[in-house]
Amino acid sequence: MSTNTKFIYPRILLKISGEVLQGVNKFGIDINSLKKIAKEIKLVLNLGVQVGLVIGSGNLFRGSTLSKIGINRIASDHIGILSTIINSLAMHDIMHYYSIRSYVMSAIPINGICEAYTYKRAIKLLSGNCVVIFAAGIGNPLFTTDSAACLRGIETQSDIILKGTKVDGVYSKDPKKYSHAIFYKKLTYKDVLKKELKVMDLSAFSLARDHNLPIRIFNINKPQSLYRIVTGYDEGTIITV
Ligand code: UDP
Repeated sequence: MSTNTKFIYPRILLKISGEVLQGVNKFGIDINSLKKIAKEIKLVLNLGVQVGLVIGSGNLFRGSTLSKIGINRIASDHIGILSTIINSLAMHDIMHYYSIRSYVMSAIPINGICEAYTYKRAIKLLSGNCVVIFAAGIGNPLFTTDSAACLRGIETQSDIILKGTKVDGVYSKDPKKYSHAIFYKKLTYKDVLKKELKVMDLSAFSLARDHNLPIRIFNINKPQSLYRIVTGYDEGTIITV
């Protein structure tokens, strides 16, 4: 189904941090948060926008945190990678509940649970208006799901990376600690590097910059923020050339 409302991005790569899925809890998956995200995605699908999705796993396990308690860093990252698959499967199930056609494609083959990622099939599914959930990051340790979002965004010829977080966008400093922190509506890739702003990790950011892929950081918890972005409203912080 598509409406007459115009959208400015035919294909988006939405990255959601794992923390968004935990809602008010300290750990795990909150069903209401999953439902909220699925409904936000459905709004833009109804416009005719194609959606690729990458979900982090900060709500379950991050490699950097596990390595601090004494688990080998590579094994820790493998646990983080597997956790992104868990989140992807949960999101996939909720999407089914809302009659959204979606597929989980994993960077690591897991027979019987989800299909293995290939860029051609991903593009085919996206072109048919199915949501493709890219699980298992890029499939290698020492990376993050931000890198996966940028890589899959480039591979699937997406128009923009939309990074949905719990904050409104990019600030000069942590707004929770510094009341005078400046909010940036627009930044260039150069600004981000010069001001050493924490947008995403450097390897992910460089990938987007090298391929001229715009990045928008926004608050996914703000109702209809995703809809407003794809229909051309200024929401969060946009980063371009
Ligand atoms: N991870 C990895 N390689 C990848 C993607 C993820 O090793 O390509 C691991 C890494 O340990 C990371 C964890 O999975 O900490 C979860 O990803 P991320 O930290 O990006 O989650 P988010 O902060 O977005 O919730």
